Amino acid sequence: AGRRARALGVIEELEGIFATPIERLRLMADEMVEEMQRGLTSDLSGSSLKMILSYVDKLPTGDEKGLFYALDLGGTNFRVLRVQLGGREARLVKQEYEEVSIPPHIMVGGSIELFDFIASALANFVATEGEDFHLPEGRQRELGFTFSFPVKQTSISSGNLIKWTKGFSIEDTVGKDVVAELTKAMERQGLDMRVTALVNDTIGTLAGGRYGDQDVVAAVILGTGTNAAYVEHANAIPKWDGLLPSSGKMVINMEWGNFRSKDLPITDYDRSLDFESLNPGEQIYEKMISGMYLGEIVRRVLLRIAQEASIFGEVVPPRLEVPFILRTPHMSAMHHDTSPDLKIVAAKLKDVLGIANIPLQTRKMVVGVCDIVAKRGARLAAAGIYGILKKLGRDTVQTEKQKTVIAMDGGLYEHYSIFSECLVDTLRELLGEEASSSVVIKLANDGSGIGAALLAASHSQYL
Ligand code: ADP
Ligand code: MG
Repeated sequence: AGRRARALGVIEELEGIFATPIERLRLMADEMVEEMQRGLTSDLSGSSLKMILSYVDKLPTGDEKGLFYALDLGGTNFRVLRVQLGGREARLVKQEYEEVSIPPHIMVGGSIELFDFIASALANFVATEGEDFHLPEGRQRELGFTFSFPVKQTSISSGNLIKWTKGFSIEDTVGKDVVAELTKAMERQGLDMRVTALVNDTIGTLAGGRYGDQDVVAAVILGTGTNAAYVEHANAIPKWDGLLPSSGKMVINMEWGNFRSKDLPITDYDRSLDFESLNPGEQIYEKMISGMYLGEIVRRVLLRIAQEASIFGEVVPPRLEVPFILRTPHMSAMHHDTSPDLKIVAAKLKDVLGIANIPLQTRKMVVGVCDIVAKRGARLAAAGIYGILKKLGRDTVQTEKQKTVIAMDGGLYEHYSIFSECLVDTLRELLGEEASSSVVIKLANDGSGIGAALLAASHSQYL
């Protein structure tokens, strides 16, 4: 009984420190707008948001025509893809793709080896191009390159790698132009192809979303990490010192995972997770929201309850002390368990954490912890989206019945339905019933690959 009282005490405390009351979310959204503005003013403003210029000033219109390739590199797999675009009427005539996994030694080897590996897979893929794809006489094949690592973009088709993330570590690529590296590797393969667009996955998702729906104004990724991009007025970007693009628009990669606000409910669990992470002090918002971290926060909470209230027995289960052992898909499986005796929770606790024979009451408590952690993440993400809508002036009722669509991609949003439902509900609460009727979040399943091919088309050398 003493144990249970102590455990309930910890849960009650959790509910307090993880709370995200709606007024606080509003304050955060306002701070998001301020940080966006600061980041757009100068790279030296000290804003937590980098607000990177993507050099994408034309998004797909639906009129794109021809054969285009894309390469999507951003995790342990990369994808090569080709599309035949048929213009306004025929649209996406045909698409084909192939997924290639990157051998671990390539992820931590040399730069030449990585790009040779990629270019060779691409050359093999090009060799299988069939009759349904047509390249006009005398033209070079063109490629959109989705490269989801931090890049200092220097034009639509060039950019220098700032640093590797997500398990890649290839020292000699850092600081180099990744398009130049890829181009040299394609030449070594005898592959005649030109990279006309270098983008990250948020920009690709935005482009792919826009192709399907002209009301798309922003894209959000909720997967392993989190990020957002949106369409800004070029004259609202003081730090842009180039010519104003004829479209008057510029796509901004917010790098919002690094957002900081005094109103973020940062707990001791978040502080210690951050302190022990590979990038302490960075990506604080991402560490409270995204798929790489939610399960780990739950593990840290359960460990503390186990230590203070012995809910898993006198001895703290050793596996509960292993960082990142409890992944977000495990958490999500437990959270969605609808069986009366919480069978799935029992199975996950046993298989993942080696904890058996847990009473139903304790299993319920575990689900409760998942609920607190997931909902905080979903509500914080909703506040960020609300901030973007405010920046765009789309947070109020639109007079001309203007729709606002946000293209969404990522395994967390796609598979963790309690998370995504909570996000949608919270955004509706923030916007109010009337304004929210013109705002839609649209799941753009893997739109970033097609998006890159479309951007290769809208930035073609033949236009
Ligand atoms: P990435 O973000 O690496 O490009 P995805 O968009 O496919 O890849 O997202 C993968 C992430 O989504 C995983 O790291 C995991 O955190 C999360 N995820 C995948 N499946 C689930 C699930 N069933 N429940 C909750 N989260 C999931
Ligand atoms: Mg992805």
